[in-house]
Amino acid sequence: MLFRSVAAGKLCERVRSNIPAAMEKSDKSPVTVADYGAQALICKALSEAFPDDPIVGEEDAAALRQPEMAENLTKVTNYVKEQLPDATSEDVTGWIDRGNGKVSARYWTLDPIDGTKGFLRQDQYAVALALVEDGEVKVGVLGCPAMPVENSEPGALYVAVRGEGAMMRAIAGGEFVPIRVVAAEDKENLRFVESVESSHGDQDRQNKIAQAVGITSESVRVDSQAKYGIVASGKAALYLRLPSPKSPNYRENIWDHAAGAIVVEEAGGRVSDLYGKPLNFADGAKMVDNRGVVVSNGVIHDRVLAALAD
Ligand code: AMP
Ligand code: MG
Repeated sequence: MLFRSVAAGKLCERVRSNIPAAMEKSDKSPVTVADYGAQALICKALSEAFPDDPIVGEEDAAALRQPEMAENLTKVTNYVKEQLPDATSEDVTGWIDRGNGKVSARYWTLDPIDGTKGFLRQDQYAVALALVEDGEVKVGVLGCPAMPVENSEPGALYVAVRGEGAMMRAIAGGEFVPIRVVAAEDKENLRFVESVESSHGDQDRQNKIAQAVGITSESVRVDSQAKYGIVASGKAALYLRLPSPKSPNYRENIWDHAAGAIVVEEAGGRVSDLYGKPLNFADGAKMVDNRGVVVSNGVIHDRVLAALAD
């Protein structure tokens, strides 16, 4: 699965080198040929390795099958063929639709491109895949193809297995190294991260809460679950995602958090909603009984929750 996530990241980078016009989904959010191509590659591999496991993916191929989308479907298929030369358009739509599975006792959840807006801006984005059993995330793979990596070309791969820690390596290659959240006394890395998109959070309140727990520097704004990778690898102590006053009824999607959450937890951090409740990955694609998301190095978590309760 690691190999396929890397292959999906490669497909995204190929598309990004010649950035496409975005298509619009029914909820007005953007989607690109890379979202579809990455979902096709990963769902194909998952279906072969674990034929009985449902996959809850962000995309489905219904729109792509419409006659007016024929040109886009050909584009997606051509990108997939660069890695799987025998793939047909029917194969591709079939693989994408393997992502129409339902949350169950054991399932995978996939965001083929988390942060599509970042992807289109040539900023950060993530290919996020997680295995969930009985509501608990067991494995997370977070590919961030545009993440700067020391002594390497950009591209970081974060991986976590429940009970076995979190690790990262450059997508370009090399050994996995264990990662750890920032320690309380490391003042330099007591930064906080939030979304680039102001409509995906409440930046006023996020800044006030960060200040209330002693974070004095300005936020680092990053798209996608790359924020979880940044907290897990000790580059920031806190990621706040508070409900936007413009969309108070918005509920978070499991695929936007499952992979990132286990990476941070296994790196020694903590993840909850703004009331301190664990994120609920057991009941459906939308986390209907959670509000907002708080991700931290663990040490400051209770203080953040206390500031939020104030
Ligand atoms: P980010 O790059 O962290 O802002 O996260 C991108 C994700 O934000 C997308 O995958 C969307 O599912 C999600 N999103 C869309 N609208 C909202 C909203 N109003 N509040 C919070 N998240 C949102
Ligand atoms: Mg997403």
